This record gives sequence, C-alpha cells and structure tokens, in this order.
Amino acid sequence: MSAPNVFFLAVDSLRADALHSTVPPTPNMDRYAGSGANFVQAVATTTSTTPSFSSMLTGCYPPRHGVRGLQGYSLSSELKTMAEAFAEAGYGTHAEVTGPLLPETGVLRGFAGANHRQAYRVPFFNWRADVLEKLAGFVDPWFLLLHIWEVHRPYRAPPDFEKRWDRSGYEAAIGATDGWLGPVFEALPDNTIVVITGDHGEEYPETKLQHKMIRLARRARGTLKTGKWLPALDKRLAELTVGHGFALHEHLVRVPLIIAGPGINATEVQDQVRHVDLYPTLAELCDLPEPQAIDGRSVVPLMMGGTLPEEPAYMEAVGVKLEGDRIVGAREPDWKLLRRGSTRSELYRLNGSQAPDEKHDVATRHPEVAHRLETFVDEISATALEHTGSGMTSDEEALVEQHLRDLGYL
Ligand SMILES: [Zn+2]
Repeated sequence: MSAPNVFFLAVDSLRADALHSTVPPTPNMDRYAGSGANFVQAVATTTSTTPSFSSMLTGCYPPRHGVRGLQGYSLSSELKTMAEAFAEAGYGTHAEVTGPLLPETGVLRGFAGANHRQAYRVPFFNWRADVLEKLAGFVDPWFLLLHIWEVHRPYRAPPDFEKRWDRSGYEAAIGATDGWLGPVFEALPDNTIVVITGDHGEEYPETKLQHKMIRLARRARGTLKTGKWLPALDKRLAELTVGHGFALHEHLVRVPLIIAGPGINATEVQDQVRHVDLYPTLAELCDLPEPQAIDGRSVVPLMMGGTLPEEPAYMEAVGVKLEGDRIVGAREPDWKLLRRGSTRSELYRLNGSQAPDEKHDVATRHPEVAHRLETFVDEISATALEHTGSGMTSDEEALVEQHLRDLGYL
C-alpha cells in the first residue's frame, strides 16, 4: 500500500470526557473512536497551548524542547520536528493553526505551508471552505495539522447550538465543532490516518452557582488583596478558576486521543499514553525512520493488542496565572505527584483514574511512591537546555506579546 496521508486534528481545550461521554453528542469524531484505536487514558504534557504543541510535534518534554512558557521561549533548533521528518520522507506538509501558535515560536518548523488564522477576528468556522479547497489540491502523501480554536474560551457556537447544552457554552462549542468537522472528514481520502486529540483539557463551571462563585472569588482577590493578608484564603480563592494553564488537575491533563485509518483495527486502549508518544507512533505507522533522543515511544504495540512496560508521564503547568511559578509533576494511572516552585511535593491517589482523589495529599503516607516519582521528575528536569532567551528578535518578541495580549493571556 502506498504511504498513508496523515490528518492531525488538535481541538484546543478538548478534555477527555467531552468525547468519552454522550453529552455533547459528537457523532463525527465518535465514528473514528469506534473504528480505530481509542486511547482512553491519554495525558497532555502541559496545560498551555504552545508548550503542548511543541511536545506533540517533537516527542519531547518541555525541558528538552525548550518551550517552557507562552512568552520568551522558542523551540530548540537541535530537535527534528514531526513535520520535518514527514517532509524528509517526501510528504507535503501543511498547518492550519491559530491562537498563540505563531511561526516565530518555531513550532511550525517543517511545514511547507502554514496558515495562521487570527483567533477571534474571524466568524465561527467561516474558514471551512478554505480547508476543503486545500484538501482537494494536496498531492499524496500529505501531512496536515489542523488546529481548531473554537472550543477555547470564550466558548463560541452558532446560535442554534447555544441553548441546547449548558455548562457555560463549552459543550455547545464542542457539539458545533463536531458538526463542522463532518464535511472535512468526508473529504479525506481513504488512505488517511486520522489523529484526534486536544492540546490540553479545560476547567469550566458546572453549575450557575459555581459560575457566580468564581466571579466573586476573582473580584474578592482583586479588591481585598487577600494574598497579602490571608495567604491561605487567597490560595483557596485562586483555586476557584476556569480555563487552563494554571494547574495539572485531571480535567486539565486528560485529553482524548484517537488514531484511526488504514491497517488500524478498532480497539480501546486502557493503558496510559502521552502526547510525547505521538511522533514516534506516527513515524512507525508511516514507515518513517525511528525518531532518536526523544522522551516518547511508539505505542503501536498497544494498538495491536500487545503490552508495553508502564512509563510515567511528565507534566508542566506554566500558565500566566501562576505568576512566574512553574508546577512540575508526574502521572501514573494510580498516582500523581505535583511540585510548585520550590515547595514540597504533593502526592495524590488516582486509583487507576477511577474516582481520583486530588484533594488529599498522601505524600507522607506513601514516601516510596513520592520518592520514585520525584526521581523521575528530577531526571526529566535534568535534560533542560540552558535558557538563553527566546532566540527571537525584539520585533518578533513584540509580535508574540501583542498576540498574547489580544488573546487575553497578558
Ligand atoms: Zn490550547
């Protein structure tokens, strides 16, 4: 069989349970979940867009790829990106991206064509015709990265979707996104591997009361300056927040991951897999050389019904809300270790991801687990590049900053 095309779909802020449940209905994406490998315990590397894409596209954790924040970092020039590897193998490569994924960050290296859409300045999904036209013009084999921003806050959906589901519009945005994708999926040639994932999850208010509490908490922190007088209360209020980037909770790091296409049988994979595994997995599926010196591994054996030794997932939160702090952590199906700045590590029981308890720190009760995961985090952290600035010109820095400001991040 000739080399398959690759359609890599990353829906921004798409958390795992958005696809793994019946609300909102997502029949188009579900079709791939039912016909291909559906990884039900996939973990994003970070909860911010640019570092997360950097991990998906290089197979490396942030210390090694160098994008450890939204601003002031760019992708290490030492690494080969997935797009570069596909281009070297004779693929046509194209990216349709938006939000903070600017060419200046280095994340789009290797894409022969890259179209960056302004996030909120285009009407909802009015750009589908353009994508369909591009698809019709591609010469096989091709690798297309499609980044969808419509599920990112503020959630947007056409009016007929808005009232159908609640949860502050998040579910409506996903329902509408799935509907929008139908004709795009239909236009894909048979010989196409389809990857569906989210770059990170999302925290959103579940009820109207929660929504109100979050608004009040934000106002209270601002006017009372609780951080100065009542640090404990301030911490509690700060936890009442929505969006992503500020933490590594399960809703924020667990994302859907589906890989479907020629030669891939329907299977549900329960094992933990990571975004850093995507590049080596697609390389194996498409017969590309095995990527070297990366953090991920191919999970093709799991797709074929085999097994792999368990490996922890390294994670980082670097969002602007952390006010310069970084949270690093590790996740296994049963445990999650988190460390913010130089504070003591906290350990939480995930119970095989069934009813995880992310409230009670059990580090002192399970010192051996905490020590093992801390050692892992330290090993990954030790691969860090020396940070010598973003490598951008001051004009490029200013452009990135302006974009982040437009997106409401700064
Ligand atoms: Zn994102």
